[in-house]
Amino acid sequence: MKNGTHRLRFWGVRGSIPTADSDKYRIGGDTACVEVAPSNGAHIIFDGGTGVRGVGNYIGRQHESPYDVHLFLSHTHWDHIIGLPYFAPIHQPYANIFIYGPKRSGNSLEKTIRCLFMPPYFPMKLEDIEARLTFIELEPGRHNFGEGMTMHCTRHPHPNGAMSYRLEVGGFTVAYVTDIEHTKGRLVPAVLELCRDVDTLIHDSHFHQDDLPLHRSWGHSSWEECTSVAKKAGVKNLFLFHFSPNYSDFDVFDMELRARRVFPRTTAAYQGLTVEFPAS
Ligand SMILES: [Zn+2]
Ligand SMILES: [Zn+2]
Repeated sequence: MKNGTHRLRFWGVRGSIPTADSDKYRIGGDTACVEVAPSNGAHIIFDGGTGVRGVGNYIGRQHESPYDVHLFLSHTHWDHIIGLPYFAPIHQPYANIFIYGPKRSGNSLEKTIRCLFMPPYFPMKLEDIEARLTFIELEPGRHNFGEGMTMHCTRHPHPNGAMSYRLEVGGFTVAYVTDIEHTKGRLVPAVLELCRDVDTLIHDSHFHQDDLPLHRSWGHSSWEECTSVAKKAGVKNLFLFHFSPNYSDFDVFDMELRARRVFPRTTAAYQGLTVEFPAS
């Protein structure tokens, strides 16, 4: 469906593990999944955490004939892939699902995802999936993936590695940077470059600054680092993302309040948040 806006929707904003705790309802408990619906009608999804169930139902209902979905994985830790067996388009024989992820040594992307579809953990095997799946391993750099859409990616520090993405489509730019640990006192230069002047930056905000030193090497960032990246890279809008499963709504709203004093165009992403940008 083509229209005059680019739309961003957060289907899961929690990090590490889903939570249904009553003090976390407003921010939401599903894990990492962000949908980008550009004005050209393409379906682009960042990460396949438990939030991917919702976007899969939403997209699946829209189609009864061949269509494409482009799913970009930052990395393959559980909270970024665990929703994939419940992604409705996998049961549609006319769905073409392209799954992108960082190229790494050892197991291929396909072999890693195959572990999700393996009895006795899940009743279906990858061969039983009705949709056409295509796995694409990405090296850092710029990639065209059709209809004038480009994805620039760069690796960033995280246990087992992870990838940052910058999507450019129809003059709209969005950077997706999650599960990143900046070196103390020094932001990752390649990520700053990736985020340069984007309309929207979605950035790992797992910890308050006070908690960060207690979790060095966990591979995450604080809201202060998000605002520093946003200011240094000249981004227009910042969304804090991938919150600790131990942080209540109050903790996250407190984060947002503090971050806005430094970078006013900051929003703490919450499950269901939808933002529209006029297409030029
Ligand atoms: Zn994560
Ligand atoms: Zn991770």
